[in-house]
Amino acid sequence: IPVDPFDLVIFGGTGDLARRKILPALFHRFHAGQMPAEARVIGAARGEMSTEDFRAFAAEALDEFAPGQDRVWVDEFLQRLDYVTVDARGEDGWGDLGEKLRPDVVRAFYFSVAPALFADIAERLSQHGLTDATSRIVVEKPFGKNLETARALNRTMASYFDESQIYRIDHYLGKETVQNLMAIRFGNMLFEPLWNSQFVDHIQITVAETVGVGGRGEYYDTSGAMRDMVQNHLMQLLCLIAMEPPAKFDPDAVRDEKLKVIRALDPVPPHHIVRGQYEELEDDEGRHPSYREAVGNPRSRTESYVALRTTISNWRWAGTPFYLRTGKRLKARSSVINVMFKPMPHSIFGTEAGEHQNTLSIRLQPNEGITLGVTIKEPGPGGMRLIDVPLDMTFAEALGPDGHHADAYERLIMDVIRGNQTLFMRGDEVEAAWAWTDPIIEGWESRNDVPKGYASGSAGPADAELLLRRNGREWRGIN
Ligand code: NAD
Repeated sequence: IPVDPFDLVIFGGTGDLARRKILPALFHRFHAGQMPAEARVIGAARGEMSTEDFRAFAAEALDEFAPGQDRVWVDEFLQRLDYVTVDARGEDGWGDLGEKLRPDVVRAFYFSVAPALFADIAERLSQHGLTDATSRIVVEKPFGKNLETARALNRTMASYFDESQIYRIDHYLGKETVQNLMAIRFGNMLFEPLWNSQFVDHIQITVAETVGVGGRGEYYDTSGAMRDMVQNHLMQLLCLIAMEPPAKFDPDAVRDEKLKVIRALDPVPPHHIVRGQYEELEDDEGRHPSYREAVGNPRSRTESYVALRTTISNWRWAGTPFYLRTGKRLKARSSVINVMFKPMPHSIFGTEAGEHQNTLSIRLQPNEGITLGVTIKEPGPGGMRLIDVPLDMTFAEALGPDGHHADAYERLIMDVIRGNQTLFMRGDEVEAAWAWTDPIIEGWESRNDVPKGYASGSAGPADAELLLRRNGREWRGIN
């Protein structure tokens, strides 16, 4: 179903995110018939560039990030693109931008620029009368670097726009499996009765990357895994796993429940956290620099890995640990949530049948899908021996080999046009998340905590294993 006609302005339209994610996502929606022919995408950035140049830039981006497309479709899509040179910090270009915007279509402004420019752009949009009460503003991460800066940013945005106009992107929420998590929980009778500390032993959330900091070293070193990944992506996943059922699938009902989870998170004591920095690696592809070398800071104390154990003090979850870990240069790229159910209270098959535990694995990448681990009898005449087997639902199979699997950005951008905020973070959620991570980060700073080195290509620092092993548990996925 096509969305309403729109004008989408991408501030930072010539940047890396626009090239890799936003423009390819728009193309895919156009190809799928969801972006109407009357829609316009206007790149707005500092560089001097003609509309033709911008179209050539977009064509290259599609070649690289949406390869193998039919030229006719690509050309049709490119006709929808326009460009205006705008200086976020000056007066140039704002009049031209105003002339390009049409009345009576949905108007959205994507702030795909450094956060330091958000306030400038908001102010100029408003000064030049380019927004009204129905315009939508999309902002990228990072949303602040602590509670104080996030609050200031929320305040600035609130002085120009209503909260109902602001779409704070966390692309993890746009992933198919993440929404399926809500469908699994709230669309089945099977799971919800078991979804509490009585039946769930613990929950693991892993977001592992094989890449290092790459070209983002300078920025990353001022951030670290806690700010870059845990405060937003991992906490959002934790919220969806742990929240109470909202009364309806409506933006504020869902976000109210997520907020309650964040506010019920307990502080994390230092002995429940492990931080790490990856070391240099020599392999077939050559030499890969250590974290400190990659960020050009030989004394850096910023973590490229963090694992922690937290608990939620509410009726449903008291006593069930949530283990979170994320890191760079690990042995596999894998984002997965594992819900580990408790062992049987008693085995009628005797001790030789071993201990078995149901697991629900929700894979976000690669190979998005959900697997339920169940215990069955080992086939054959060997007596009553039990084995664990997966009941697997892999989306790639359901879609077929040629099925295009919509990227998170496709869904999220269309949600902006439709005016649906369910999968976007509300200002108070972001603040509550910082209020939880700030004391952890401040603790490291005040203790001059130095992250432990870990071998590139490993599962992270050995201490992260101990975090679970102390209680007779172990990480699933990569270990
Ligand atoms: P980038 O540096 O590649 O691009 C920045 C863009 O901003 C360029 O188009 C540039 O022309 C424009 N710009 C800079 N100064 C300007 C000014 N004064 N006036 C107008 N335009 C100006 O940055 P990026 O990697 O595309 O990131 C954009 C935003 O998205 C940042 O907030 C970043 O944190 C966030 N983000 C990026 C990624 C990613 O993968 N690149 C991922 C998540 C979030």
